[in-house]
Amino acid sequence: ATPTALLVGTGRGAQLGILIKGPEILEQTRAVDTVVLDKTGTVTQGRMSLVDVLVTDGSADEVLRYAGAVEQLAEHPIAQAIAAASVRDASSDVGADGVPIGSDQVLDFRAEPGRGVVGVVRTAHSGLGLGRRVLVGRPAWLREQGIDTATLQERFDATEADGATAVMVAWDGSVRGALVLRDPVKDSSRQAVDDLRALGLRPVLLTGDNAGAARAAAREVGITDVIAQVLPADKAEVVSRLQAEGAHVAMVGDGVNDAAALATADLGLAMGTGTDVAIEAADLTLVRGDLRSAAQAIRLSRRTLRVIR
Ligand code: ADP
Ligand code: MG
Repeated sequence: ATPTALLVGTGRGAQLGILIKGPEILEQTRAVDTVVLDKTGTVTQGRMSLVDVLVTDGSADEVLRYAGAVEQLAEHPIAQAIAAASVRDASSDVGADGVPIGSDQVLDFRAEPGRGVVGVVRTAHSGLGLGRRVLVGRPAWLREQGIDTATLQERFDATEADGATAVMVAWDGSVRGALVLRDPVKDSSRQAVDDLRALGLRPVLLTGDNAGAARAAAREVGITDVIAQVLPADKAEVVSRLQAEGAHVAMVGDGVNDAAALATADLGLAMGTGTDVAIEAADLTLVRGDLRSAAQAIRLSRRTLRVIR
């Protein structure tokens, strides 16, 4: 093997916006036959927007206000969308107490990866009172915390079946509403999946999101293998399982929740638009955050290796 050819390969990669950690990594792509794709931020834009607020018996504004206060402190795309929507409403309006939304105080904030967030929210009108313990997240997680989600479950499930991502909002022990979000797929994702298939690779969509949203995104880009509702800690296990079945796995992801899976895969590819943790765990960075670069990277490595032999 000539090191020169490897270096030429890495140099060409850099021109294409593909950063390779070391020339030896090209070797790892040789046997890859399966490409596991994270959904949120990799196949989709990762920019969610709030499209609907469901309520049990209170007001939609109140549900959004309390959820927004807690989500301000979180980093997930879901959190960004909810915080942005609640602050946007605040600029044209103020809460019932006359105090702008966004000035609420949050104590004891905690994010549970893949499950949701919790915090105690004190608005000006709650004065020196204890405030409300607000939870935003998956219904199953809320139920684990002793909250009965039955009153809203049917409407919630219908939005998910329709391809949306939704989270429930609860405080003081009862479910109060749900926030419905959408995250469109990137324009280039469909082409990228076609390119991967043309290289003989089998694409698999892997996500922590619900099965309805996962299937809707998969259908749009032409993927049939979908693994949904996987907790962040279990994404790497899914990769190991595929490897145990004999697959040689490349994984493409962008989130903190993808880092372990990126490191476990035979080849890890991080979106350059993603988190530092994912970039550090990966072998390769797709600087442009365009999924088509994943196919380009694999094509380039194969060509470079052919030159070497
Ligand atoms: P993905 O693999 O799509 O990036 P995650 O594993 O990060 O998904 O999240 C999975 C699910 O956990 C979300 O769909 C949501 O139900 C819940 N969740 C995660 N973070 C939050 C948050 N900040 N607020 C509310 N729910 C959240
Ligand atoms: Mg992601």
